[in-house]
Amino acid sequence: MEKSLIDIEFENITENLKVIRERVSKAALASGRGEDEVKLMAVTKTIDPARINYAISQGVDLIGENRVQEFQSKIDELDMTACKAHLIGHLQSNKAKKIVGEVDVIQSVDTVSIAKEIAKHALNRGISQKVLLEVNIGCEWSKFGFDISEVPERAAEISEINGVKVKGLMCVAPICEDEKKLLNIFENMHKLYIDICNKKIDNIDMEFLSMGMSGDYETAILGGANLVRVGSAIFGPRIYSDKH
Ligand SMILES: *Cc1c(COP(=O)(O)O)cnc(C)c1O
Repeated sequence: MEKSLIDIEFENITENLKVIRERVSKAALASGRGEDEVKLMAVTKTIDPARINYAISQGVDLIGENRVQEFQSKIDELDMTACKAHLIGHLQSNKAKKIVGEVDVIQSVDTVSIAKEIAKHALNRGISQKVLLEVNIGCEWSKFGFDISEVPERAAEISEINGVKVKGLMCVAPICEDEKKLLNIFENMHKLYIDICNKKIDNIDMEFLSMGMSGDYETAILGGANLVRVGSAIFGPRIYSDKH
């Protein structure tokens, strides 16, 4: 019998995950850490529930979505019993209510005011929402995030907001041909992460340094990332169906 298209895609996902996991392990070891010390997130924007559930069946235990609405439209069809979800895309304040408490971590806190908005809805639900602070490292196509220089101060400010818990930092790196320059950017993020750890601020518990995507996850790990967000290298090129 001929293999159906979806079977071929499933095989590709299995194969891609295998290769990526090997590379993640290798890079983790090369950076002086254990192979389990770097977490692989599967970025599932534009990917349909069947493919996401297949990836979950292959051991993916963390997914990342960019848009609140897209996440909501898929979540009921996903088997999330052994899988967590993070929001990784820019969050508009009018969408905060819909996502607070629905994801384990909101990685894309890029202003103090969105942190306050998240906190308000978290308190209403009687929870504390885990968040990461998004750092803008000078990427032309990502206009979101705190400037590196203001991160320690903003982190301290956000740590005092009841209803959110700062768990780390995230960034989107520029597309950069120069491997050394890119590594340097990731290393600077790692320094910032360690600096904030060392300040031992109440209500800040640094657990995640989220950086690295399909094109640069190995470099990001060498630079100190402990969470990489990989989409197209797992699922293939994204097909955008509407006005994204
Ligand atoms: C889409 C996206 C990713 C994954 O990108 P790939 O290049 O497909 O791996 C990671 N992080 C964020 C914030 C994204 O929007």
